Amino acid sequence: LTLESPRLSMLPYYQGPADVAAFVGVPVFEGRVVRGVLVADRGAGGPFAPGEVELVVSAAAQIVRVVQSERVFQAVERAKNEHESFYRASAELNRALTLDEVYEAAIAGARGVCDFDLAVIANYDAQHGAHNICRVEGELAEALGGKQFKDPTTLLSMVVKNKIALPAGGQWREREDGYVFDPNVRTREFESLLVLPLIVKDEVTGTFTVASKRPGAFPNDRREMLGVIANQVAISMQNGRMYQVLEEQATTDGLTGLVNHRTFQERFAAMLTRAERHSFPVALLLTDIDHFKKINDNYGHPTGDEVLRRVAKILKASARKIDIVARYGGEEFAIVLESTDRDGARQLAERIRSEVAKQSFESSKGPFKATLSLGVAMYPEDARTKQEIIARSDQALYAAKHGGR
Ligand code: GH3
Ligand code: MG
Ligand code: MG
Repeated sequence: LTLESPRLSMLPYYQGPADVAAFVGVPVFEGRVVRGVLVADRGAGGPFAPGEVELVVSAAAQIVRVVQSERVFQAVERAKNEHESFYRASAELNRALTLDEVYEAAIAGARGVCDFDLAVIANYDAQHGAHNICRVEGELAEALGGKQFKDPTTLLSMVVKNKIALPAGGQWREREDGYVFDPNVRTREFESLLVLPLIVKDEVTGTFTVASKRPGAFPNDRREMLGVIANQVAISMQNGRMYQVLEEQATTDGLTGLVNHRTFQERFAAMLTRAERHSFPVALLLTDIDHFKKINDNYGHPTGDEVLRRVAKILKASARKIDIVARYGGEEFAIVLESTDRDGARQLAERIRSEVAKQSFESSKGPFKATLSLGVAMYPEDARTKQEIIARSDQALYAAKHGGR
């Protein structure tokens, strides 16, 4: 459209007085859809010549092409970012060793592909029909953290039973659709919800839940990506559990359940480092069962094992949580006492000695008694290095043995 001296009311892009002598307006088409109008006007210079109108027409076409390619470019960029965070999540999940690392990577992975106000990872204990909440991110941390849910009618239970992600469309109405975790956990404020099954070898091992207050937060493509992440989370959690078992086996003594020799050395060294930095005393108590060889010889090896277990239990019960109680060797044990002075260590040693002496052990030849000898050495009074403290405590133990056990 071209106009000469148009009335100002025809030109809505002017708000005040203006001096317009000529106007040209060209629709901006994208296909058959009008996306806008490209206008040009001028106050002097007479009406627009056909060549000038032509220029505006080709500029309008140009604009559409630029907008179109910008839009495609943005879509490609967005897809690239999504793929990148998707692959990053995947790599992180592969790298994760401990369960905590797996949960962390799972939450970060979900964050990469969708927006959520709540994410919950639960493992499913098929034997007890229980959902154990392992990790909560965002809202409801209080209501869900560390909890166990057993209600078989919840969405969580339905997902486990049917081995599919629910609700199908990702939309959620608590009142009509039932409860997600438990009737006591309110989820009414969420408009979008997705509970994905964690499946390993056709077994549901848990669930991964994401929820958002925004409607339509989990459209099809998001649900697909979350599904792939959930598959990986399931396998990584399985690996994490295996790692936990191996780690436990590697650090504990199988017979007594106490920390093993290697772990004792590591933790004792770490405690001495802390003791030096924060200037607190440490006591090392070494103990050895008296005439243990005779116990084995008289009552048999399994009975000897039972004595070891009972003594270990007494040691564990005598120490505090912060102390290290270890099986040092065959029938020798070590206790490292944090922030304890010589008097305190000696009192504890005496308590342990009398507690073991009080015990009566069962055997096929009737009940019998066992006694302990103990030695104590102090950091920093007696020695400052780990080796030396152990040597000093061992000397004290040796003296106790030779002083009559
Ligand atoms: P002492 O009073 O001087 O300490 O004499 P002892 O007989 O206790 O000392 P010795 O070191 O000669 O014997 C320790 C015995 O502990 C020898 C070994 O067969 C036994 N032993 C080591 N580990 C185990 C175990 O796991 N179970 C059992 N039943 N015996 C073990
Ligand atoms: Mg010994
Ligand atoms: Mg002994």
